[in-house]
Amino acid sequence: MPATTLAAAAGIPTDPDRNCPLCPRLVEYRHMVRERDPQGWNSPVPSFGDSSASLLIVGLAPGVNGANRTGRPFTGDYAGELLYATLIDYGFASGQFLARPDDGLTLRDCRITNAVRCVPPQNKPLPVEIATCRPFLIATMDTMPRLRAIVLLGRVAHDTMLKTLGIRAVLAPFSHGAVHEAGRFRLYDSYHCSRYNTNTRVLTPEMFRSVFARVKADLAES
Ligand code: URA
Repeated sequence: MPATTLAAAAGIPTDPDRNCPLCPRLVEYRHMVRERDPQGWNSPVPSFGDSSASLLIVGLAPGVNGANRTGRPFTGDYAGELLYATLIDYGFASGQFLARPDDGLTLRDCRITNAVRCVPPQNKPLPVEIATCRPFLIATMDTMPRLRAIVLLGRVAHDTMLKTLGIRAVLAPFSHGAVHEAGRFRLYDSYHCSRYNTNTRVLTPEMFRSVFARVKADLAES
């Protein structure tokens, strides 16, 4: 059975429970952050966007001052500024991005999720946490009948997607702008749109835009 049908068969939900207990280190960190900021979301962050979308974007994990605080992926920290501006430019989002979950921004034919749904210390999930969260990614993909294009923001997203789809790493090495065929899906690698990557010019807005230009053109063709 292909990996992407396993989670649905097992009845795994697309999003973890708000008090998901599966990763003890992340639960402990969540509790610590909650004490500091009791008004914040401080729970696993659900995917954003409709399950009828053709495009899925996979990030790393919620940022402590971003998605973990606001409850919406890439909302509230720097990474979202470049991501949502680019999505609006390419017609994958409409409205205004105001870095708040109530800004009214809507995704169009696009859904955004994270490899790991809980905020990790220092933005670095452990391999076991990535593996534990993978069934939610699989379940998310299972509920997307029109899914064709998957943008992978950074190596963690890339690696977990290869494992999800049972693709050997040597056959699909990560590099910015790389495109890998994966059955009915096409995978698009991008450097993560983090502040660090953009400040150091590892990723420029032009490099990021070129990934979405390609996705847009491919989806228009298919
Ligand atoms: N916010 C997210 O939701 N995911 C990331 O990968 C980074 C910031």
